[in-house]
Parts: sequence; structure tokens; C-alpha cells
Amino acid sequence: MSCDYFELANPGIQKLHPYLAGKPVSELERELGISNIVKLASNENPIGLSEQVKIAIEKEFTDGCRYPDANGHYLKAAISEKIDVSPNQITLGNGSNDVLEMIAKVYVQSHHEVIFAQHAFCVYPIVAQSLGATLVEVPAKEWGNDLPKMLEAITDKTRMIFVANPNNPTGTWLGESELKAFVRKVPKNVIVVIDEAYTEYVTDDSIPNTIEWLSEFENLVVTRTFSKAYGLASLRLGYAVTSEEICGLLNRVRQPFNVNSFSLAAGIAVLNDEAYLQKAIEVNKGGMQQLIGNCEELDLKYIPSAGNFLTVDMGQNAMPIYQKLLLKGVIVRPVANYSMPNHLRISIGLEFENQKYVDSLTQILS
Ligand SMILES: *Cc1c(COP(=O)(O)O)cnc(C)c1O
Repeated sequence: MSCDYFELANPGIQKLHPYLAGKPVSELERELGISNIVKLASNENPIGLSEQVKIAIEKEFTDGCRYPDANGHYLKAAISEKIDVSPNQITLGNGSNDVLEMIAKVYVQSHHEVIFAQHAFCVYPIVAQSLGATLVEVPAKEWGNDLPKMLEAITDKTRMIFVANPNNPTGTWLGESELKAFVRKVPKNVIVVIDEAYTEYVTDDSIPNTIEWLSEFENLVVTRTFSKAYGLASLRLGYAVTSEEICGLLNRVRQPFNVNSFSLAAGIAVLNDEAYLQKAIEVNKGGMQQLIGNCEELDLKYIPSAGNFLTVDMGQNAMPIYQKLLLKGVIVRPVANYSMPNHLRISIGLEFENQKYVDSLTQILS
């Protein structure tokens, strides 16, 4: 007799859908047989790898057959110095998605509820659902986190709340006073995860430095990544900053050698390459103006964004526009799976890449 292997799967897993990634350039090339494709779909850094990173990676070839430093000693030291926390508060991950999963694994059980906002990053429901927890999606306010409503959603079953600041895919952000007042009101037995994947792009004080709050809030977890402004998306590197106690627990579920030697070296190199980060921020600022200018020209509404992307309301079902952009060799990101069927999320690229999108969209809509 055969088995139903779907029915055998954990109930939480049965309800999951695989993550939908941005379409790879090579895939579109295969499908259409065209080149000169521009990918503005995954919030990657368009300026390429830091030259310092390339040098650091090459040096790692020498010991490439050895396991990496399991504790990431030197990278943690470099991060520790940069953000002024103890290395014992840092947990490294294979991308910040890895640490988001570790945090949920440590604290969330199947009888718990996990709160996040409508249009929040899809990894939060994926990790909570895979543990069999109940997902509590709180309706958004002007596309962002509605913090008072999220507080109201807390019950005695709530164990974790995810807040991205800035948020993806909407680009919305929360200021110091509202976010801090929220964290203060969350019960101590509920872990608050603030996901700061885009924080380096925010150079003024419109978003808070939540790392400074860690001494005040023991239930706070801050996650960051090297995938965006630091340009290491391919190397998969992120980290969580927590109390030393939570860090110790994360270290129990962390897979041995979850961060490879090349990524460890790359992280140190790019943290030391201040010019790279500044360039990334400048290119992003210019590109943001370019995309906003195009929205105004075409009379399209957009969600003001603090990230490296702009989410634009096409004023109609966006899927046909996405398809037409593909035919012109421009890959952007549909966000219907985030219940935003009329929007497209455009990652900010280099000037000529943004221009190719702008020209293509202008042709499609005229
Ligand atoms: C891109 C992104 C991440 C980072 O993912 P990595 O696994 O570090 O590449 C985390 N959170 C949000 C909201 C993101 O948009």
C-alpha cells in the first residue's frame, strides 16, 4: 500500500507555498532569446561587489577546503565595533532570513500566535507557518504597519511580532517615537523582531537606531543584512542583535558552519569599505528621484519609500504590464502575492537601468 506523502507532512508545511523569487536574468534570456536584460526585481545593490570584497574572497581560496570559523569571530568583532554592541549579542546567519527562522524556532510553538502586518515581508508567515503557529495578519494603514492595531491583536497566545522598518514590499517606515512607544507596550513575554534590512539607506533620523534600545527591552531582536546596501546578496549574510541570553539560545539552533568562509571575509571587507556604502546610498538617492519623476510624469501613484525600491500603483491589474515589461527585457516584481495586485515593485538600479524601465513603461502606458 502506498502512502499519501502530502498528508504525512507537518500540517503547517501543508499550508505553505514556495517563496516566489524575482525572475533570474538567465531565465528570461532562455525564454525570449534576448540579451541586455535589466533586473530591477530583488532589491539587489546595482553597483556590483566592492573591490575590497573581491580581494578578500580570493584570499579565502587558500583554505577553501577547510570548514569556516564556526563562531565567525572576526566578523562579529567588526560588526560589534561598527554598531557598538558586544560580540556576544550577535548571531550570524546565512542571510537574515536564516536568523529570522532561528528566532522563530527558539520561541514559537504550534499553540502560539505570531503577528505581522498585511503586506509584510513573506518570510515572517513562512517561518511561523512552518512551525504550525497561528498567523495573525493585521490590516495595514497607508500600506505600513498599523502599530496600535497590532497591539490590539496581542492575546495571551501571542509569542512573536515581526515589524520591518523600512518595510518590504511597500517601503513604508516608522519613526522613533511611535515605534518605541509600541515596543514599550508589548508584553515582555512577546518577542518583538525589528527587521532592518534597508536601514543603511536611511541616512537621516527618520528611523530610529533600535540597537540602542536593546539594553532597555530584553524581548527585542533586531535583524540586519549584508544583502542590500552592502551588496552581498549572492553570499547570503545577515545577523541578529539581541540580549546575550537570547543570543545563547539562537546559537543552540544555528546550524554548524551556517556562514561560509567567503561570506565571513566579505562581510569584514565591506564593513571596512566606507566609500562603497556611500556610493550605494548616492546611487540609490539619484535612482529614487528618477523613478519618482517618472511616476509624476505618467500620473501614477506610488508609495513613498525609505528603501532601495519604489512600489508603484499602475492603476489597473499590474500583471499584464509586468508581462509587457518582460518582453522589453525589464524584470520588475509583481506583488499580487502580497495582496497588491495593482502594484509593481521596482528595485532601484543604475541610471541606465532605471531609464530602460522608465522608457519601457512609458511606451506600454501610452
Ligand atoms: C531582503 C530582505 C531581507 C534580507 O534577506 P537576506 O536573507 O538577508 O538576503 C530581510 N528582510 C526584508 C524585509 C527584506 O526585504
